Amino acid sequence: MTNKKTESERKTIQATLDRLYFLKKSAPRFLFWTLLVLYFVCNLIISISSSSGASIMIGGRALPFYTFAGVFSSISNVCIIIVAVYYGKHGFVASLTVLLIQLPIVLMSVFLGKNLTSLPGVFINLMTVGMVILIYRNNKKLDDYQESLRVQAVTDILTGLPNWFATTELIEELIRKKEPFANVSIDMNGFKVINDTMGFDVGNEVLIEAARRWKAVADGGASGTLDFVSRLSGDEFTLIIREFESDDDIQNSIRMYEAALKDQMDNIGYDFFLTASFGYSVFPYDCGDMDNLISYSMLAMQEVKKEASSEHIKKFTKDLLKKENTLEMESKIKNALDNDTVYYMLQPQYDMDHKLRGFEALARMKDEDGSFISPADFIPVAEKAGLIDRVDSAVFRKAASYVGDLIRETGSDVMLSLNVSVKHLMKKDFLVEVSNLIASSGIPAGQLELEITESIMIESVEKAMHCINEIRKMGVKIAIDDFGTGYSSLSYLNNFPAHLLKIDKSFIDKMNSSDSSKQYVAAIISLGHVMGFNVIAEGVEEESQIETLHTIGCNYIQGYIWGRPLPEDDAGKLVRESVKKD
Ligand code: C2E
Ligand code: CA
Ligand code: CA
Repeated sequence: MTNKKTESERKTIQATLDRLYFLKKSAPRFLFWTLLVLYFVCNLIISISSSSGASIMIGGRALPFYTFAGVFSSISNVCIIIVAVYYGKHGFVASLTVLLIQLPIVLMSVFLGKNLTSLPGVFINLMTVGMVILIYRNNKKLDDYQESLRVQAVTDILTGLPNWFATTELIEELIRKKEPFANVSIDMNGFKVINDTMGFDVGNEVLIEAARRWKAVADGGASGTLDFVSRLSGDEFTLIIREFESDDDIQNSIRMYEAALKDQMDNIGYDFFLTASFGYSVFPYDCGDMDNLISYSMLAMQEVKKEASSEHIKKFTKDLLKKENTLEMESKIKNALDNDTVYYMLQPQYDMDHKLRGFEALARMKDEDGSFISPADFIPVAEKAGLIDRVDSAVFRKAASYVGDLIRETGSDVMLSLNVSVKHLMKKDFLVEVSNLIASSGIPAGQLELEITESIMIESVEKAMHCINEIRKMGVKIAIDDFGTGYSSLSYLNNFPAHLLKIDKSFIDKMNSSDSSKQYVAAIISLGHVMGFNVIAEGVEEESQIETLHTIGCNYIQGYIWGRPLPEDDAGKLVRESVKKD
């Protein structure tokens, strides 16, 4: 926890800005005093040597010490000028004071002591005074100019609040110092309507008024936290909250800014109420870098807008990110569908003698940067977003067209298995789609297989049965996918008009780990056979699994051990080779 003992006047926005930008690096203090001492020592040497008549021996000649007075005088003047140049107002006052104290002493020595040798000293002293004044005036002009530049650089012209640049500087500084803070993104509600209906001038007045009220809250210190409010652009503001002890402190502070808007804005000639949406993220708990911290608080703020409830404050949570990712994925899928870039791979299926049975078409998608997006990520999103039928159809169209051509070319009897989502199957024009597919691709109906997940038997069996029977009538085969993962009852399975059971990979994985697991798979296979289905094992990766499947009477195998999903040309080669073998 950061301490709260900071004096209240240092808790203003301006004080924060000053600490950030106006901490000019002044020259070291000890040098200031060293220069002044050196100045006095030099002058002391000059005055003693002028009256003592002492001399020093150089090259066998005795030179009066006073010959070196010019050297010491130069050193003393350089000292005083350095003080005036580098120590700002303090330096100016100090050097001028020293020179003005010295002036009457030198004058007295000239006029009362009749010491005319000090006359050049008077002249030098006066010249130096002029020089110091000149330096000071010049420095001041430069400083004023620099200061006005700095103020412009960190200030929002319309509202006078700090701007975006100042905000990022502060955030970077706090992150560097590892000081906890909340980054609050604020956006006015319905501000566009104000602009559109009452004009930009009124819009600007509203922003200025809101900024004035918020500045008063931040500078007044009533929130109990150390706050910094700034305007980014348009109706977007940022609030940085520091010196809090808990999340409640943060929320309470934000509520003060929310409350500040509540009073009618009648002082600008219009009586309406303004509200804003507040979303916040907390450093270092939510994230450690500025970009994400800001995008997280924006995300929370946008969520407030979307929810449109009376609660206008929201804290960032990881759930929001998931939601955002889903939306992002949804838009990627839409783009891929619109640009027709959804493609497919063909994974071979074999009988137990390693003879090619056919292929399962698996949907594939790439990101804009060319990286691969897993179906495990995009298929569930496509299901939820109601896009799955379009994904299925894209794979149907492309895979059927390729395999249809291949069958025409080679006369092969390979199967093409297509995944159908339950949602897609339930669409009223599904049957038309399948018959069109057969017609356009020229694929024989008997070589087409639709994989339907077992879940259909639990959720929608009655509705689906009619459709599935119609498909069967066309001659198309039906496979029950992921068998064993749902909890379909045997009675449904018995009546289900399928040809093939696909045993889910999870059972094949465990199969050789225990005798009971092996018995379980053996039972599924026998049951399938009793009901008149062929059985295919999915996800076979090891030789030992093939051996077991052999002994327990499995019909087909699909798995990495004999073939990963392939690009269509490689699948084509496999078909041509298998036709040659026959
Ligand atoms: P699925 O229908 O069960 O497809 C089999 C998945 O298992 C595929 O993953 C395949 O690449 C993978 N697989 C096959 N053999 C092995 C193996 O030996 N080891 C391992 N580790 N994996 C193996 P993929 O392509 O990632 O597809 C995942 C799921 O996405 C599919 O599971 C299916 O449910 C869905 N999906 C894929 N394409 C489509 C489509 O066009 N339409 C619909 N509705 N769903 C699709
Ligand atoms: Ca499948
Ligand atoms: Ca499967």
